[in-house]
Amino acid sequence: MTARIIDGKAIAADLRGKVAGEVKRLTQAHGLTPGLAVVLAGNNPASESYVGSKAKVTLETGMRSFDHRLPASVSQPELLALVKQLNADPAVHGILVQLPLPEQVDASAVLNAIDPAKDVDGFHPVNAGRLASGLPALAPCTPLGCILLAKTVHASLTGMEAVVIGRSNIVGKPLLQLLLAENATVTVAHSRTRDLPAVCRRADLVFAAVGRPEMVRADWIKPGAIVIDVGINRVPAANGKSRIVGDVAYAEAAEVAGAITPVPGGVGPMTIACLMVNTVRAACATAGLPPPAV
Ligand code: NDP
Repeated sequence: MTARIIDGKAIAADLRGKVAGEVKRLTQAHGLTPGLAVVLAGNNPASESYVGSKAKVTLETGMRSFDHRLPASVSQPELLALVKQLNADPAVHGILVQLPLPEQVDASAVLNAIDPAKDVDGFHPVNAGRLASGLPALAPCTPLGCILLAKTVHASLTGMEAVVIGRSNIVGKPLLQLLLAENATVTVAHSRTRDLPAVCRRADLVFAAVGRPEMVRADWIKPGAIVIDVGINRVPAANGKSRIVGDVAYAEAAEVAGAITPVPGGVGPMTIACLMVNTVRAACATAGLPPPAV
């Protein structure tokens, strides 16, 4: 059997199109143009590239983009003052502070200073708590994208056996909450899990968010299962350069799975598209409008 390839690039493009439609409607009907502020401290090349893509997509979907670039020497009080200013700015509906922050800054103090209503990354403890309590919340973008990708294969995840490998606050834990909200039966595995291959083989849905290149092998996968690979790992390539691989041994897993996301081109593009969704949702909530149709 050869798996259906879940084309994250195409699905994300479709989602960005829907966001653009909602932005147009909100601007025309309510004079509301959602705005996203992105804060970058220092010049980490990967962070610069992420921030550049986020600003580009924000503008493409018709929203306002506010770029704040600070030197690597920025102090914590300076960053906190900027967050305070953005919290108070009515044109800013979403605030994203790009991680990692320079080492002299306490990242959680900065993230916790963001108004939870503008926390489009969904990292604030208030949003994590609301999500875990089943209350409306801004949820982290990568797990949101994972759920949308799985639902392109099965419109309902109700009753399905899901295994999430990884328990980070950014991916594994929020994914657990979102899967519970979809009525899946969820196991969260991690580095101390006993016999991970056997745990994985139970799953109708496998989510790998580990950060270990090609760790999940074909014989860990139940035939026909859906495999969503969150991992982004840089490994040496044959030509002396490097290439990106996921946490799943893609070629062999695709022979067993029912559907699988490629890396790159799977979860990655969905993360930014879901950031746009969160910004529109935040803008509607702040304006007292019903949630958008995305
Ligand atoms: P973390 O390093 O924060 O968490 C990794 C998790 O994997 C931990 O819970 C850890 O367990 C678990 N783990 C580590 N080794 C093993 C093992 N041998 N067996 C089982 N579990 C193990 O990573 P993130 O959650 O932030 O990211 C995970 C991956 O997803 C990375 O490759 C990252 O680059 C990628 N990523 C991709 C995004 C995208 O947009 N596509 C966005 C965010 C992340 P323990 O808790 O016990 O240490």
